[in-house]
Amino acid sequence: MKTVLIGVGQAGGKVTSSLVEFDHDMGFNAVRGALAVNSAKADLQSLPIDTVLVGQDRVKGHGVGGDNELGAEVMQADAGEVMAALDGRITAEAEAIVVVAGLGGGTGSGGAPVLARELSKVYSVPVYAVGILPGRGEGAMYQVNAGRSLKTLVREADATILIDNDAWHSSGESLEEGFDSINNSIARRLGLLFASGENVEGVGESVVDTSEVINTLRSGGVAALGYASAQADDDPDTNINVVTSVTRNALLTGTSLPNATKADSALLVVAGKPERISRKGVERARKWVEEETGSMQVRGGDFPLDSERLAALILLGGVERSSRMEEFMRRAKEAREEAKRQQEEREDTDKLFQNDDLDSLL
Ligand code: GDP
Repeated sequence: MKTVLIGVGQAGGKVTSSLVEFDHDMGFNAVRGALAVNSAKADLQSLPIDTVLVGQDRVKGHGVGGDNELGAEVMQADAGEVMAALDGRITAEAEAIVVVAGLGGGTGSGGAPVLARELSKVYSVPVYAVGILPGRGEGAMYQVNAGRSLKTLVREADATILIDNDAWHSSGESLEEGFDSINNSIARRLGLLFASGENVEGVGESVVDTSEVINTLRSGGVAALGYASAQADDDPDTNINVVTSVTRNALLTGTSLPNATKADSALLVVAGKPERISRKGVERARKWVEEETGSMQVRGGDFPLDSERLAALILLGGVERSSRMEEFMRRAKEAREEAKRQQEEREDTDKLFQNDDLDSLL
């Protein structure tokens, strides 16, 4: 899938850069253009891709400080400038546009839905979002921002692939220490998805086609991505179990949204040396994905890749009714109510000291 990427905000810019790097290192050439957009000048300076600074007249290059309403406003005000910068990058060869953002902050959280809407108005190819959810340990503001942003993104983008920051985070490191490794994990998984259908050398029996990715995401809403790999044997017959077990791991322990296994549609991509991919294994794995997701629409295909390992990549479409999604939206709502309560308490305290019967000392 020939893709143009737009990273909004700090996380968006960093993840987009990791994706560009991965696509380049692997020689896939699925990423056909990339741009990072931010209201914080400092966050753009370290990025190895082209950038656009928004909101300069409102926030003077200092960012919106976690205020996603302001993030949406500055993106709306400067949308013309961002669209102009994209003009030459989104050419007729592009098959999808992908807006990437951390949903818990300000610029990406507020700006990504605005940009998705503007892009959908102008371009006929699908506009997808990749949204990064704050980890459980991040504060209430992040959860509220992410809940509001997600609600809007799901409406404005053709589908939103969600990545929970807790999902691919190795234990023992703090979330921040882990960002680089999380970003590399995101880049590998999303990068393989974008490259599915691009790399057709040594054509296998059923190479994935871009239309399979697009059809899997057609129901819209929230999507998730799973991945796992294992050492493969030379003989495809001994790889039956390798294919079924990497598929199981990809769905049960390797998804970007843990516990999201019920889905409207799914795509199972098996990557590896074509002569090592067991057809029987793929058939069994696909049946198992059908049972596990409860979806009658499980597509599949091979991704010929020169590697000693076999990998399963599973794209799940329409996972918004999963327990993880419900838990997240409930948490965002509770955080919003708690924030409101604290605000009311602060106002009560202010009133208490505005008592005119007493004079202040100074
Ligand atoms: P913005 O610049 O105002 O859009 O804010 P950020 O992009 O920093 O968004 C904050 C959210 O993104 C928080 O939930 C962070 O955990 C997350 N985040 C920030 N940087 C990264 C990163 O490099 N990788 C990942 N995966 N998440 C990040």
